[in-house]
Amino acid sequence: MNVLIINAGSSSLKYQMFDMKTEEVVAKGICERIGIDGHLKHTPISNGKPVFDEDITLPTHSEAITAVLDKLTGAEHGVVASLSEIGAVGHRVLHGGQSFSESVLIDDAVIKAINDNIPLGPLHNPANLMGINACLSAMPGVPQVAVFDTAFHQTMPEKAFIYAIPYSYYEKYNVRRYGFHGTSHRYVSAEAVKMLGGKAEGTRVITCHLGNGSSIAAVRDGKCVDTSMGMTPLEGLPMGTRSGSIDPAIIEFVANHEGLTREEVFDVLNKKSGVLGISGVSSDFRDIESAAADPSHPLSRRSQLALDVFRYNVAKYIGSYMAALGGADAIVFTAGLGENSAELREAVTDQLRGLGVTIDRDKNKARGKLLDITGEGSTVRVFIIPTNEELVIARDTKSIVEA
Ligand code: AMP
Repeated sequence: MNVLIINAGSSSLKYQMFDMKTEEVVAKGICERIGIDGHLKHTPISNGKPVFDEDITLPTHSEAITAVLDKLTGAEHGVVASLSEIGAVGHRVLHGGQSFSESVLIDDAVIKAINDNIPLGPLHNPANLMGINACLSAMPGVPQVAVFDTAFHQTMPEKAFIYAIPYSYYEKYNVRRYGFHGTSHRYVSAEAVKMLGGKAEGTRVITCHLGNGSSIAAVRDGKCVDTSMGMTPLEGLPMGTRSGSIDPAIIEFVANHEGLTREEVFDVLNKKSGVLGISGVSSDFRDIESAAADPSHPLSRRSQLALDVFRYNVAKYIGSYMAALGGADAIVFTAGLGENSAELREAVTDQLRGLGVTIDRDKNKARGKLLDITGEGSTVRVFIIPTNEELVIARDTKSIVEA
């Protein structure tokens, strides 16, 4: 069965198609600038046909889906002969609120629930729904599955997800911690369990998804018991452009002193903060690492500071999750930065030496591949595990459709 994976954003739509017999990606691509002008890059992988990379008019997600399906089935760039060869579609959906603790087959009730959760995911859920609706009309009768970023974290106990604000806000508006990157935390924690011997019961794993967006999860017996992102992805670690956790009083202070509205302050916290805000250089960790390493760079010191703040916070979260779990059997590094930055892994684990964590510095030089980098005598195993959220979505989609 071929399964098409859709990740719809407000002006973009990423896709991958998997052949589930082999779990290989047969084609992938991205539509960008939807609703502005439009661009499609489509890459056939299974048959060596040429890449399509051109501006095309994409007024809505509906035209974007039509263009994607045309490319997947067309003579020049296609990977299948017709739409009938696409057995199911899996959608990445940001916010399932308290409604979803696992992936589900999409029907009217599921669409209504995603819609009802828009107040919790105001930027993403409407875009995810546009992707779902576009597929439902372009491919009637093809089963569609929703896979939620929040679902894996629904096993958190109340003490981990309740904020210390009036309880009535939880009762009235569902204000609580939800957590994100759940598909990634689920995948890498399951891979870690395999590396620990295969039985989830009794295992304590801390998964660090460190990329442009970053979050950490504490996973006991294969189930999430705590995570760093909150009601929205703004909480927790400092990120590429997001502040992560700050004193909430800063919001009013900055609004007053800078003459900004509430919305403008939140824009600053989401888009101009994090390591970009501290370094003044970039939200991309590669740029920051090279500016920090170049003493002649005018923002070298601030770049090093941004890296130090980020790494210090990662180590603090890991330490606090060791407390939450009563120790740890494994720490996992994943996503763009976690998989590729040896410097980050070294700095974070150096900070954790007092808790018994060491790594093998030679093995740590590896990038982007599954590896056990545990140091001699370390009481906690340390793994690099490349994440694969799309494959998890494809596997969930296949198993739900075939059930
Ligand atoms: P992601 O959001 O998972 O795609 O991760 C993107 C982040 O990973 C960006 O900030 C990149 O700079 C960072 N990244 C990717 N490769 C490297 C690398 N080799 N060294 C440091 N950071 C990297």
